[in-house]
Amino acid sequence: MQLVAGSTVYRQGLNTTDKDAKVSRYRGQMKTAVVAIGGNAVLRAGEEATIENQMANLRRTCSHLARMIANGYDMVLTHGNGPQVGNILLQNEICRQDVPAMPLDVCVGESQGQLGYMIQQALTEALRNEGLNKVVTCVLTRVVVDPDDPAFRNPTKPIGLYYTEEEAVELRQTRGWALVEDIKRGGYRRVVPSPDPVSIVERSAIRRLVFGGESQAEVVIAAGGGGIPVVMKNGRYEGVEAVIDKDLAACVLACDIQEKLLILLTDVDRVYLNYGTDQATPLDHIKIEELERYKNEGHFPLGSMGPKVQAALRFLRNGGERVIITSPELLETALDGKSGTHITP
Ligand code: ADP
Ligand code: MG
Repeated sequence: MQLVAGSTVYRQGLNTTDKDAKVSRYRGQMKTAVVAIGGNAVLRAGEEATIENQMANLRRTCSHLARMIANGYDMVLTHGNGPQVGNILLQNEICRQDVPAMPLDVCVGESQGQLGYMIQQALTEALRNEGLNKVVTCVLTRVVVDPDDPAFRNPTKPIGLYYTEEEAVELRQTRGWALVEDIKRGGYRRVVPSPDPVSIVERSAIRRLVFGGESQAEVVIAAGGGGIPVVMKNGRYEGVEAVIDKDLAACVLACDIQEKLLILLTDVDRVYLNYGTDQATPLDHIKIEELERYKNEGHFPLGSMGPKVQAALRFLRNGGERVIITSPELLETALDGKSGTHITP
């Protein structure tokens, strides 16, 4: 199959309102994508979360992103925040006698600011190296979730510190936390709900930043760490203590701003069948029906590849045209159709 990413993702006139007419005329000439970077792009397994380590990894990742932008793409970038939000929670726990601890939604907001700033720095520098003088803008992003989402009755996402059994009993009583035992690591950990993202509160602002420019679009960072989870209650948004999956949030972001190309960058070159066995088979180009079948056969575990595949299927069933799953190093060759896993409707 001949794959020219640009030709299929060039913006063709989208169903627009009068208000969007000017924006869509400009969009007609552009190639744009939502790109999600995984935790590994910022911090590798076993590395200490120093600013130096995180910036060094980000510089590497951003050099590839900058080259993609130099090749004519405008980009909305999103990112994971697992290690960073874990450390913010830890800082809160250690200091709680002296400084009031912040709830999880505020911590996610902090992590968006922290990572957004680091990415701004690294990406601006990488863009300069490509001769581009673009502004990298970071949008604090709230993501609406359904208060009746069954995830609220069944918290599954472990976050933060490990506690002893006595501490776990106390934390359940004093703070109403749900904790589960992690047998492998020997300790109890707080678990929070991971509800499905429904929509992006700041979507129109994000669209305007990407598509509203006269001659050049800005690079926008949005919905970091899956977004700050909020529910609509009595006519206002209220933050909730939950963690939204960043791949599913990237999908909602891409759908909300009507992108056609979604790129999920992680630490593997492709999606595999029978991953981690000697039968491992890479998937290069695949249609959604076949991918769905492999998903139902259990090839993509819940905590890692599962949400990426789920995000890909949802995006392509909601107007998306292509999903690419690959590593940052292979981004450029993947855009030429020569590497990565390409999923199409
Ligand atoms: P990210 O931070 O990018 O979301 P994850 O660890 O959540 O990273 O997901 C990527 C990981 O998924 C890979 O490192 C790989 O070990 C794992 N993985 C599980 N199943 C598969 C599969 N079928 N194909 C490829 N990778 C897989
Ligand atoms: Mg992940």
